Amino acid sequence: MKQLLGGKGANLAEMTNAGLPVPPGFTVTTDACREYFAAHETMPPRLFAEITEALSALEQARGETFGGANNPLLVSVRSGSVTSMPGMMDTILNLGLNDVTVAGLSAKTQNPRFAYDCYRRLMQMFGNVVFGIDSQIFEQHVAKLKQTHGFAADREVTADAWKSLIATYKSIFRKQAQTEFPQDVLKQLHLAVEAVFRSWNNPRAIVYRKAQRIPDDQGTAVNIQAMVFGNLGEDSGTGVLFTRNPATGANTLFGEYLTNAQGEDVVSGARTPLQINQLAHDMPDVYRQLAETARRLELHYRDMQDIEFTVEQGKLYLLQTRSGKRTAQAAVKIAVDMASDGIIQKHEALQRIEAEHLDRLLHPAIDPQAQLDVIANGLPASPGAATGQIVFSADTAEAWAKQGKKTILASVETTPEDIHGVIAAEGVLTARGGMTSHAAVVARGMGKPCVCGCEDLRIDEEQKSAMIGKVAVSEGDWITIDGASGRIIRGAVNLQPPELSADLAKLLAWADEVRRLRVYANADNPVDAERARSYGAEGIGLCRTEHMFMSPRRVPVVQEMFLAETEQERKAALNKLLPMQQADFVGIFTAMSGLPVTIRLLDPPLHEFLPNLPELLLRRQRLELENRQSAEIAQLDNMIRKVRNLVEANPMLGHRGCRLGIIFPEIYDMQVEAIFNAALICLDQGIEVAPEIMIPLVGHANELAMLRKLVETTAEQVLRNRKHECRFRVGTMIEVPRAALTADKIAAHADFFSFGTNDLTQMTFGYSRDDAEGKFLPQYVERNILAENPFRVLDHEGVGLLVKWAVQKGRETKPGLRTGICGEHGGEKESIAFCHRAGLDYVSCSPFRVPFAKIAAAQAALAEQQSALAKKAKQLA
Ligand code: PEP
Ligand code: MG
Repeated sequence: MKQLLGGKGANLAEMTNAGLPVPPGFTVTTDACREYFAAHETMPPRLFAEITEALSALEQARGETFGGANNPLLVSVRSGSVTSMPGMMDTILNLGLNDVTVAGLSAKTQNPRFAYDCYRRLMQMFGNVVFGIDSQIFEQHVAKLKQTHGFAADREVTADAWKSLIATYKSIFRKQAQTEFPQDVLKQLHLAVEAVFRSWNNPRAIVYRKAQRIPDDQGTAVNIQAMVFGNLGEDSGTGVLFTRNPATGANTLFGEYLTNAQGEDVVSGARTPLQINQLAHDMPDVYRQLAETARRLELHYRDMQDIEFTVEQGKLYLLQTRSGKRTAQAAVKIAVDMASDGIIQKHEALQRIEAEHLDRLLHPAIDPQAQLDVIANGLPASPGAATGQIVFSADTAEAWAKQGKKTILASVETTPEDIHGVIAAEGVLTARGGMTSHAAVVARGMGKPCVCGCEDLRIDEEQKSAMIGKVAVSEGDWITIDGASGRIIRGAVNLQPPELSADLAKLLAWADEVRRLRVYANADNPVDAERARSYGAEGIGLCRTEHMFMSPRRVPVVQEMFLAETEQERKAALNKLLPMQQADFVGIFTAMSGLPVTIRLLDPPLHEFLPNLPELLLRRQRLELENRQSAEIAQLDNMIRKVRNLVEANPMLGHRGCRLGIIFPEIYDMQVEAIFNAALICLDQGIEVAPEIMIPLVGHANELAMLRKLVETTAEQVLRNRKHECRFRVGTMIEVPRAALTADKIAAHADFFSFGTNDLTQMTFGYSRDDAEGKFLPQYVERNILAENPFRVLDHEGVGLLVKWAVQKGRETKPGLRTGICGEHGGEKESIAFCHRAGLDYVSCSPFRVPFAKIAAAQAALAEQQSALAKKAKQLA
């Protein structure tokens, strides 16, 4: 009943039903929260009556009275959304304390120090959550109190000292919120429930939902539960337990706890907790029961669990269980281990992988050969290495990321308010907090490298500087963190692409058994092609030949070619380019031997290669001022004239793609010649080749017909009288809407279609792909005009319709016409699922994303099978 009760509420109910030791309580549903927002933040009319009813059942179960002077019932009020959002919404503990009940609690526990500490904690949380009073204001008074009395730690503070703080806190309420702290416990409860509802829309929750793509209208449930206390002395405590290691996936209990503490102390990172193994020594019986419960819960939920527990005077209570957030590495290992142990099926293992995180697995790690200046160590909280400029605030991380800078966000302890900084930074480093602190949990969930609890990190936020070990660093200095080992390294470090683990290889083999889509890679040079193959690419779906021209040595020759005024001049330049391209093709064919290599003929928007006109004009001015020789100036004038002739108002829609090939056929002739020369060289060496020549930016069937002929004629010339036969195909990009619409006619001349969804998105929406993402698109997404950036996730409704139409029409002309996608969407999960449903044959993405795309393709196939089964079941019913 997760949708209604939220994840936490549903699991608490389920654990209760299973007879596990859960403090009794009840859950206010997500329906109520949605109703609250639908009614413009008005509490649903029957809610309070229902809460009161449930509360009296709770009083009976506990034999305590809410607001009672003698035996008071205290409750926790905790948020719990449908999709886990750790730490993003609010919680209030110890609710039900007031000036009267605090005395009752004190008498009942015979521990006034404890009772008044609980009371001040309640006022603090309540003040912050309900009235938005800054927690720091309360904390400053705690610090002052400790200083005045000479207490080193909270646990030394006496009952009377806490009591005196209550009076101060009351005046804070008056001053900051112009109100009294409510003594009416029912009023406390009502305000708390409403505040938790409201916290669904606090800024950090909104940012988190956007980042994790959690729907805004889910709402949160509110769990009201009898309090149990981990801070009743040294035989009490509280902690977090993962049933497996969430960083590596190892099948060992992993967790942290604190004695004599309440829940927030562990996750907030304010005190650095103890390792769970220590509990086996401190409280062996509790540890045994906890370990046994952990196994039970894992088998019941058939997934790694993240369990919150409290020990109250030697008795164990479970406060929550949920599927634990984990790194990509751990996700793969746990899924494979569980499937191998028969706990789950192979297909479930595949579906468990958040494909989005997988590419993180393939992100760089520290080059083992690199000389490292390790300046400190922290806890290895989320693996992967990151290099960046150190910053000390989330806002700076965000601002610098917008300027394209890579940052490492360093802070004393990361609170959920810093979420935007965590998203923006390459990695996160904290001085305090354990592996289960919010910083660690959030970073792990996002697959960001994180080192936390580094005690040798001392930050001076005002001065924007820090000491890391013995080294002084200032904002902007380069550092590297290694989230797998916890090392902090001075300076930027060479990072190395990692290798596929045995677990991932196993998972990919399972994916191969179910996926229908083939996975190709986009690669433009031999090195990328080799990488693509080592990551399992089944071909090259897009080799952008203009990328081969981008080296400093080659650009001037390309300019020469474009600026040529006669065919002869152009051919001279092309003759220089031919051997360069040919050598690259030999390298790519060799890397991919036997697999298809789709080579796209030249498609550069001209402005990417032409000399910059304003710069030329400036240079001319300078020459004039310097009274240089007129011959030099005349030469420059000639260049300016030629560039002026070629400059376009809208190069993206200008003389590019097949239009170039039609007007300057000698360019494509040269490329085709280079391709087949390379093919013959490879064939001579016994390397199999399968070239597929792709014509870009076709909008009319006649364009393709003409260029197909050109390719075939040139190929024939090269291959004529040679001992080898070389089979090849000629196909086209579908990236102009007109091509999609007239796909039946285009297909007559094409052996395959490859959807160039970058241009197809640009031209369907009429959004310049060079400008939109930097200008209005973020606003469009922010303001929900568009659900997604269509350059990232394929727009199913519009662009997708063109894709489906083109596949259908193309296959009407040519049944079995091969179709694929090579725009950036080919490496994105939802777009891959779309391609599967649209009946495409392959997706092509960057080499790093190949494993990710294979898993996504398998997930798409499984989702289809499941929905077909569900449909059948419905029909039978
Ligand atoms: C496309 O348009 O989707 C494509 C792959 O080509 P390019 O990005 O090179 O224009
Ligand atoms: Mg394109």
